Amino acid sequence: MKIIRSPKQMQGISKEIKDKGKTIGFVPTMGALHQGHLSLIRRARQDTDVVVVSIFVNPTQFGPQEDFQRYPRPFRKDISLCRSLGVDYIFHPLASWMYPEGFKTYVLVEDLSEVLCGRFRPGHFRGVTTVVAKLFNIVRPDIAYFGQKDAQQAIIIKRMVCDLNFPLKIKVMPIIREEDGLALSSRNIYLSPQERNDACVLSEALRLAQGLVKSGIKDTKKIICHMRALIKKKKSAKIDYIAIVDPKTLKPVKKISGRCLLALAVWIGKTRLIDNLCLKG
Ligand code: AMP
Repeated sequence: MKIIRSPKQMQGISKEIKDKGKTIGFVPTMGALHQGHLSLIRRARQDTDVVVVSIFVNPTQFGPQEDFQRYPRPFRKDISLCRSLGVDYIFHPLASWMYPEGFKTYVLVEDLSEVLCGRFRPGHFRGVTTVVAKLFNIVRPDIAYFGQKDAQQAIIIKRMVCDLNFPLKIKVMPIIREEDGLALSSRNIYLSPQERNDACVLSEALRLAQGLVKSGIKDTKKIICHMRALIKKKKSAKIDYIAIVDPKTLKPVKKISGRCLLALAVWIGKTRLIDNLCLKG
């Protein structure tokens, strides 16, 4: 396994791999790897000849009041996890190489970037699509792997790949959870033991909604109301949003029919957590 720091060098390596007719599987991450990330890497290992994992805490997707500085960076542990899974290359660039002086170009997927998490994190998805577009041009993957955990991100990236004719396939993999339902996230380490308990309320609320839909309730307002009531029982919880939307347009739906995306963002203390579920009417 090689660790590559320069975008130019990575681009050269990718070209050589492609020239040999080999396929590249790519897993973009911000590091602090957990089983969620590892599930994407394992899948890439199965599907493609050469696996590239990027580890880059991307400054342009963090707001000024957000956790860029304190975001966990356990790089040594990440390296050994990648090695144990047979990763071929870790791409770990410096921010100043990704955004050198004079950098002026951003990629924005309109509308989809402004709703749900976009409303509460202005500029976040612009930062995500910009870095992912750059990473795609540097790594030139045949398949790139994303987690359903960040459902809005996956939808936005699929839109970008289609709209900008990136010659690659996006695979979205299921959410990996703790035994008690909490979706794995690099940010879970911020939680105190009490908050860690309270954090289960996100997945509990999703299961509650699923139960309501199964029992025949289709009215999304009603479902969201029940979820709110459950989450509000936790003192540490503050809801950013709960929304039931069309999985392509991210527009709210009134009645559950076909496939809908139920997504929520909730602060537990000072930690913002997200989760989601696909509802079938
Ligand atoms: P991050 O390092 O948080 O940017 O995440 C890198 C990739 O891992 C993204 O595509 C995430 O959606 C995915 N991911 C994060 N957490 C999970 C999880 N619990 N299950 C599956 N995929 C995940």
